[in-house]
Amino acid sequence: MTSLTARKKELETRLQALTARIQATEAELLSHDAKDWEELAIQREGDEVLEQVGLGAQEEMRAIKAALVRIEEGEYGHCQKCGAEIGKARLDLLPFTPFCKDCAP
Ligand SMILES: [Zn+2]
Repeated sequence: MTSLTARKKELETRLQALTARIQATEAELLSHDAKDWEELAIQREGDEVLEQVGLGAQEEMRAIKAALVRIEEGEYGHCQKCGAEIGKARLDLLPFTPFCKDCAP
């Protein structure tokens, strides 16, 4: 298995985990509907946290999908801004990053 294949598998696994997490979060949010008002007020805060989790996961999913496209196009591992090769240590930490450490926002 080449390192790129391993990376692709890693990204796909992560994508599946995120999809499952988003589905679980949505199910959790839906299950909060149609309860009495007192309970609803307490749950509101928890829901906001859940929504944040969902948003973060969706953002990460977008980044992972873009990374998978770059793998297909043979551009993976190169900075989308300056074209430099992204270090292995950085990719281990952030396998979906499109930028080298110098260009990262
Ligand atoms: Zn760069």
